[in-house]
Amino acid sequence: MTITRAVLPAAALAACLAWGPALADTQPAAPASAHLPGRISTEALKMIPVDQAYASSGWSESFLASDSIEAKAYVRTLANPAWDGRGVGTKGIDSAATWISARMRAAHLAPGGDKGGWLQPFEITTGVVAEAPCRLEVQRAGAPPAYELGAALQPLGFSSNGRAKARVVFAGYGISAPAYRYDDYAGIDVKDAIVLVLTQEPGEMDSTSRFDGNVNTPYADLRTKAINAREHGALGMIVVNGPRYHAGEPIRPPATDGGGYMSSGLLAAQVGEDAANAMLSGSGRTLASAQAAIEADTLPHSFALPDSVTLTVNLRRTRATTSNVIGILPGRDTTRTLVIGAHYDHLGYGGPSSLAPNSHEAHVGADDNASGVTAMLLVAEKLGRKAARGQRPTHTIVFIAFTGEEMGLVGSSHYTDEPARPLESTEAMLNMDMVGRLRNNQLQVMGTGTAVEFDTLVTMANAARPLGFAGVDENGWSRPKSGAAGEPVAAAHFKLSRSADGYGPSDHSSFYKKGIPVLFLFTGSHPDYHRPSDTWDKIHAAGLVRVASFAAALMESLDARPKPTPQKAKAEATQGRIAGGGGYGAYLGTIPDYMQTEGGVLLSGVRNGGPADQAGLKGGDVIVRFDGIRVDNIYDYTFALRSRKPGQDVRITVKRDGKDLDLVATLGRRP
Ligand SMILES: [Zn+2]
Ligand SMILES: [Zn+2]
Repeated sequence: MTITRAVLPAAALAACLAWGPALADTQPAAPASAHLPGRISTEALKMIPVDQAYASSGWSESFLASDSIEAKAYVRTLANPAWDGRGVGTKGIDSAATWISARMRAAHLAPGGDKGGWLQPFEITTGVVAEAPCRLEVQRAGAPPAYELGAALQPLGFSSNGRAKARVVFAGYGISAPAYRYDDYAGIDVKDAIVLVLTQEPGEMDSTSRFDGNVNTPYADLRTKAINAREHGALGMIVVNGPRYHAGEPIRPPATDGGGYMSSGLLAAQVGEDAANAMLSGSGRTLASAQAAIEADTLPHSFALPDSVTLTVNLRRTRATTSNVIGILPGRDTTRTLVIGAHYDHLGYGGPSSLAPNSHEAHVGADDNASGVTAMLLVAEKLGRKAARGQRPTHTIVFIAFTGEEMGLVGSSHYTDEPARPLESTEAMLNMDMVGRLRNNQLQVMGTGTAVEFDTLVTMANAARPLGFAGVDENGWSRPKSGAAGEPVAAAHFKLSRSADGYGPSDHSSFYKKGIPVLFLFTGSHPDYHRPSDTWDKIHAAGLVRVASFAAALMESLDARPKPTPQKAKAEATQGRIAGGGGYGAYLGTIPDYMQTEGGVLLSGVRNGGPADQAGLKGGDVIVRFDGIRVDNIYDYTFALRSRKPGQDVRITVKRDGKDLDLVATLGRRP
């Protein structure tokens, strides 16, 4: 599901994940260590006292005030615009991976990637490019021979490939929206036809429009229009900008973004006004008059056209190699493993997950998630230093910088399929995503219900958290408030807000769905989220170090304890967004598998006690039909959920053990 502006900001828990990736052009990478201060000298280390209380626990030491300077430098390095917004498929993200592995090496970790290296590479589809032949031929005397790929025609990224000759029906805005009592398809037959539809929705710029004023509803989404056309039996959809507000606007090449390429199962292209007018001319109408008729009374005015067209689309999927970065701290007991991770990819130069959709600047992602990577590296440095002095952890600790999180948890899913240490030996996973904006000392901890012991463990770690950061100012400089210069000052403990659920919009979900207890740290969303303005200078470095120190305390506590006892956590209402529905329509309570792309929607699981659970759906099922609507991918599924109401009974067809199975669910309201 593509996150729209209307949906996203309300989701306070939304850490990071949005559907659909972003790709980018490439630029030369910045030198990896250009503005690094380097590790602090041994002399400097001696100058800053280690927190005695924590050190006396036998296996810990405090973080240092100077870590704050280092933290800021790390974030700044990762969030350098020259690193292409760390978009998957760019040179910049590869530079980031090289830099992270260098930091892991310096932290005394051993390489945990493939073939003895730090990287765990794999191939993914990153998007599509349009190639000739892509054309539209209008079968009408006097029309140009063809509208070719370029300024006159561009396929939509989710088009299927092929060629169709068919009659044409003008279907207004291509919207069927019972909630708005509006249906462009009422009273027309588009079976085996190609529909010509306008972009946007009626009353686009009208603040009094019943389509949510001048805010777009999900019905304006082109993918939604394509699925709607297909469900009405159309073979193809041609979209055109309405001249009322968008006259003369150039048409754009297909979005080169990941999720965008999943086929909608029909031919789809955008054309310029000329081509649309050529298609309409046999009817005696123009695009402007056809649009004006709808706008006049906000009622559908659809009609069949006398001429037929031939539409040809040819899209090629692009592939890229991308890598998780993995470092290992070997433990004394080789049969026990802990994982700590943070994703290092971001949105590149924008794309559908960007909340600044018209920006093509590097989305540098300082908080999302250079901050989490930095915190993980600080934990690695701390535990690595201790190990180098002979204080090895009991568990083998696997440190992972994940790729492809923004594309749908791709890197963490790859890791759980091909783990560096067996998943059966992995006792817990700690994830950090957006931990660089600590405000009012508030830290969100999720996953506390995924193991019996976690609530206590979190409470203890917060109570025992090492001190020494209250005297560090925003710029990372030591500014003691009491005691001798350089002496640590007790910091207030975090105000924790907890949620039990192990499913959430970041990489810990990939581990939780494999039955591993998870914890997730997050300092909250902000107006720079998924925008180019998420820059390094807005990072609260001292707060970030405190989160890292809390993470280290959690890891040390996990290391000192017996294996946590996994349990099924209560679902959180606020995370319904990833359970399907996108904030509109009905609630089923399913957890789709992010890695599944086409051929149905594979479920990782269902919400305890939710409508899907009660209907008998379970993890491993592949949903292929939903109340008569074909479900080939997550977009179809979102469309289907959105088009039905709470309280309705729906028949859901799933594939289970190779057989089709029909189940009936009563849709709920989003809890
Ligand atoms: Zn993130
Ligand atoms: Zn994100």
